[in-house]
Amino acid sequence: MLVASRAFGSALRACPCRSACNLPKQFRTEALQRSRHFPVAYRPATRTMASEKDKAQQAAAEGPPAAQQPTIFDKIVSKDIPATILYEDATALAFKDISPQAPVHFLVIPKKKTGLTGLSQATESHEQLLGHLLVVASKVAKQEKLQEGYRVVINDGKEGCQSVFHIHLHVLGGKQLGWPPC
Ligand code: 5GP
Repeated sequence: MLVASRAFGSALRACPCRSACNLPKQFRTEALQRSRHFPVAYRPATRTMASEKDKAQQAAAEGPPAAQQPTIFDKIVSKDIPATILYEDATALAFKDISPQAPVHFLVIPKKKTGLTGLSQATESHEQLLGHLLVVASKVAKQEKLQEGYRVVINDGKEGCQSVFHIHLHVLGGKQLGWPPC
């Protein structure tokens, strides 16, 4: 990415995406596409706790997330950014995490966040949607053959290491997970 940054210079600054590079398509090499916007194979310890904390703290420093501000997940919903989609219905989308932390790691999101930048914004009006996301997580976990078990995580806010402010469930599995997670 460093080499790419040098090579593409100002093109990178034009990047409209917040958390990933989102280099304009015409400048993306195959390697860049693979490394940034196409899910990579699970590589243990490629994502450190420190980097996740950094991202979450950086996001917090940018101020409170505006409920209507689009995030990278809106671009995945609109298919402006490619993702490996595992499930889609009228209200929810499940796709592989670009930086998998387990052999199976996918995200479940509402297509419209309706104010749900994070779980801490939940109200009674979100009960049905939140329930639906859990049912989708369970369906896709079955589809991904996680019959031995899995973990569902919702990171919230700075201390919860949230970096994308469009509520999402992480579903992780495909190996023996440890506990506690902190
Ligand atoms: P959070 O840290 O907010 O709980 O999780 C955000 C997740 O979104 C991270 O696990 C990160 O790898 C994933 N992510 C960020 N950008 C993209 C992207 O462009 N595509 C996909 N598939 N996942 C992404």
